[in-house]
Amino acid sequence: MIRAAGFLLIAGVLAFALLRDVHGDTRADSRGAGSYARPDAGDVGENQGAGGDGAARLRIIATNDLHGAIDPARTTRGNPVGGAAAMAASIQRAERECQGSCVTLLVDAGDMFQGTAVSNLAHGRPVVELYDALGYAAAAVGNHEFDWGLDTLRARMADARFAMLGANVQYRNGRDVRWIPDDTIVQRGPFRIGIVGVIGPETYGSTLAANVATLRFAKPAPIVDSLTRKLRAEGAGVVVVLAHSGAFCKRDGREACDGDVVSFAQSLRERVDVIVSGHTHTVVDYTVNGIPVVQAQSSGRAVAVVDLAPAADAKGITELVAEHVYHVRTDARPSSDIEAIIRRADDRVAKLVNRPIARLATSLSRSGDEYPLGNLIADAQRWAGQADVAMVNDGGIRTGLPAGTVTYGELFEVQPFGNPLRRMNVSGASLRAYLEQLVRGTELRTHVSGVVIRYDPTRRAGSRILTATLSDGAPLRDDASYRVVLNEYMATGSEGRILVRGATHSEQLGPTDLDALVAYLGSRPQPVQAPEERRFDAVGGR
Ligand SMILES: [Zn+2]
Repeated sequence: MIRAAGFLLIAGVLAFALLRDVHGDTRADSRGAGSYARPDAGDVGENQGAGGDGAARLRIIATNDLHGAIDPARTTRGNPVGGAAAMAASIQRAERECQGSCVTLLVDAGDMFQGTAVSNLAHGRPVVELYDALGYAAAAVGNHEFDWGLDTLRARMADARFAMLGANVQYRNGRDVRWIPDDTIVQRGPFRIGIVGVIGPETYGSTLAANVATLRFAKPAPIVDSLTRKLRAEGAGVVVVLAHSGAFCKRDGREACDGDVVSFAQSLRERVDVIVSGHTHTVVDYTVNGIPVVQAQSSGRAVAVVDLAPAADAKGITELVAEHVYHVRTDARPSSDIEAIIRRADDRVAKLVNRPIARLATSLSRSGDEYPLGNLIADAQRWAGQADVAMVNDGGIRTGLPAGTVTYGELFEVQPFGNPLRRMNVSGASLRAYLEQLVRGTELRTHVSGVVIRYDPTRRAGSRILTATLSDGAPLRDDASYRVVLNEYMATGSEGRILVRGATHSEQLGPTDLDALVAYLGSRPQPVQAPEERRFDAVGGR
């Protein structure tokens, strides 16, 4: 062991240089920090690592929420971030380091497809091709896997060589959805591994209501307990849960984690070995109920690694050796077959996505409760629908934009859902009731155009609006009729119900939210200046 420990230290340091750790330290037990790592593939066979057995350990490599990021995105400062090449390079690095000392399992916690032109225009096919080539064993079905309807999801499942799992996806009558498998068992070296996929119950509100109208998402913990018992009975020595359900933590994912995946882990009764989390795009690098829980941001920006070893005292039961979430290096390159998949996918859409649409005077971020990008998008929708008022949910604004020239592909990533716009004629009274909803909580989650709202957040929810002033300077009148535009997600979800009920006329417009933004930006004087003014004015500040 003494000789092995010396090796481990060197290997750990090299691994850090290669993968760039989120934490800058190695939170591992006395069995050795970084003890999973080998310096490179060159000396496979020379050193067997701490276990002394060529496959004494299992390395679980996990990703989540790729969101179609075949290519790196640009930050609002213009720097590349994430992307499939960098993510794949880190995965392959983690696999190479493992050779001779462990075997690997590659899994994903869902939301693979939705979010970029290169993925969406092919309904996720490039991501399936990429995941197949990388050798993923399984993925959870995320809420955005439902965005293109059940038939498309089914088609991608048929294409994929890896399993897409959703054990708690049921029909409304409680019947299991048979074509979405619950679990799978894979063999890696000496390890027989049971994998279960579940999705957080918040899925109802996080995809277009029509896509999940026939479904319900049952409480995951009892289902996972029962499947864990079944998988153990079938000989699984390791059970991995892929949960498209997340948490928010402090200190780079290591402290004070709170969220659905934490409550889920706490309520498990059967012993599972690892939970791979997703959905919140955060770093989670935590232990709950004795179970390591990891999440690696989103869009290929990070990769999680958990190393397990068989426990000395019990047959088939494993022990945690190390757990890390790494930022990937954006300049790292994967194997040539992976690069070829990315290049082919890019080539198919290059003409469309590289088309410059507009020049922006400043970068546009999504920070704060009201930001110019949100106002700009709401303005675009009001303009497209020739309406009095328009609103856009912040959840439909997916990323910021750098200053300067922006392409169709970049705007696509801001509004990737292809959400149709709906125009309604509503009474001033229903519009006021709707606007009251927008200011009822402690934070704003919607941007508006065509109206400025002064409100008092200390007053009772439902009667907070002091004045609502339209763009012509006139106050909102309860007995007047107004033309409003919002997207179909809002119109068919719980938020829009008040407006839909009170509408005297309702029609879907031709252009989607993205079409409206593209056309609006192109029609403006260049460079485009996004509206800086506040449209929600809280009395006494917020
Ligand atoms: Zn999600």
